[in-house]
Amino acid sequence: MKQIPYVGISLFLLLQGCSKESTDLPPERERTGGRAAYAHTRAIVSLGPRPPGSAALQKTRNYIASELEKSEWETFLQPFTKPVAALGKQVKFTNLIARHGGSSHSQIKVLLGAHIDSKYYPDRRFLGADDAASAVGLILEIARRLSSDPEKAARVELVFFDGEEAFGKNISPNDGLYGSKYYAENCWRKSAEKPAAGIILDMVGHRNLTIRYPSDTPAFLEQELLKAARNAGAEHRFKKALNPILDDHVPLNNAGIPTLDIIGDFSQFGWWHTEADNLKLISTQSLDISLQVASEILINLLEE
Ligand SMILES: [Zn+2]
Repeated sequence: MKQIPYVGISLFLLLQGCSKESTDLPPERERTGGRAAYAHTRAIVSLGPRPPGSAALQKTRNYIASELEKSEWETFLQPFTKPVAALGKQVKFTNLIARHGGSSHSQIKVLLGAHIDSKYYPDRRFLGADDAASAVGLILEIARRLSSDPEKAARVELVFFDGEEAFGKNISPNDGLYGSKYYAENCWRKSAEKPAAGIILDMVGHRNLTIRYPSDTPAFLEQELLKAARNAGAEHRFKKALNPILDDHVPLNNAGIPTLDIIGDFSQFGWWHTEADNLKLISTQSLDISLQVASEILINLLEE
């Protein structure tokens, strides 16, 4: 991946500083499973709104990198600039990518990702606790657990997308998905060897957990999802949407990587894209369900 303008995170941390005081984690013994994912969610939300280019988003990347490095994940930054028509200017974005045990591009079998930005509102304190801080928190806990099996961990790439949200009202072909488009195009589209699958998480921690996966989900990934949901006793929470959904899985699918989007049913959520998307929505029990389902799918895909 030499062509990709990665900058080592250690340099990044040196430049940006790393605030450990703001994490506010519970005692060490409580930091497992849904409780750990909740603590990560709380730490990210406590940084404030984190739209692209904000200091809070830089701190979010610092937090993710420092947590991953505790369990030997190596992190890389992928900076890029794109014109944003809704703002009438260029915007700088930065994806964060992580691999375990010095693994290489060709070893990667499964991608696991979520978006790190919160939607930009000039007049609203939008925190995006479930959209998508909770998904990031869940991935940090999955990564910690996975690191105890280095052979499996070496075949996973974690990716934290900047700029998923549109600057205009809704995501459209020309606004939003900035990070996933750049990542898919520059890391994988022209690659001869591609991962067998991707998993995207978004809005997976709500206290009334309701997942609607896109109608065009690849069949083998739908089967994996429904099997894992049954095993978690949560089948009733996972239903197929009536339509495709425009989210970070689309650029990966278009780059030839079949990708599952485990996404909350935002069309039914009164709190979606409002100030009510705060920590009060987030449930440790819901995070436990999502953790169990996502982990089982990931492990099965790695063992196939
Ligand atoms: Zn959103």
